[in-house]
Amino acid sequence: MSALSPDRSAPKIDTAYRVCPLCEATCGLELTITGGAIRSVRGDREDVFSKGFICPKGVAFDRLDNDPDRLRRPMVREGEQWREVGWDEAFAVVAAGRSVSISGTRTSTPSPGGCMPRGWPAR
Ligand code: SF4
Repeated sequence: MSALSPDRSAPKIDTAYRVCPLCEATCGLELTITGGAIRSVRGDREDVFSKGFICPKGVAFDRLDNDPDRLRRPMVREGEQWREVGWDEAFAVVAAGRSVSISGTRTSTPSPGGCMPRGWPAR
C-alpha cells in the first residue's frame, strides 16, 4: 500500500458524540466506533457542562455496551420464564398493565420485567 492508494480493507472508524446515560450528570462522551461497536470512550472536551470530564463508569461505557449479557430486546416474564419480545408487544404489555392498575381489575396479562418492581402491578 502506498500513500496514494489507501487500504480499503481497513475497518471504518467513526467518532460519535453522545451524552452518558448512566447518571444525572449527563457528561459528554466522545465514542470511537468500529464495525458498529464502541471501541473507546473519552470525555467530550467541547461539552458545555462536563468539559471533557467523565467518571470511571463513563470510561467503562464501551464494556457495558459490548457486554454479551446486556439486554438488547425487551423481555416479558411469564410465570418463572422470560421471553424475548419485540417493542410493539412490550408496549402492549405495559399498556395492558397500566390499564389494569387504573381500572383496578386483575387480568392474566403477563407482568412486564425490566425495571418494574416484582409483583407489579400490585393490588
Ligand atoms: S460519566 Fe460518570 S458522572 Fe458523567 S454522566 Fe456518566 S456516570 Fe455520570
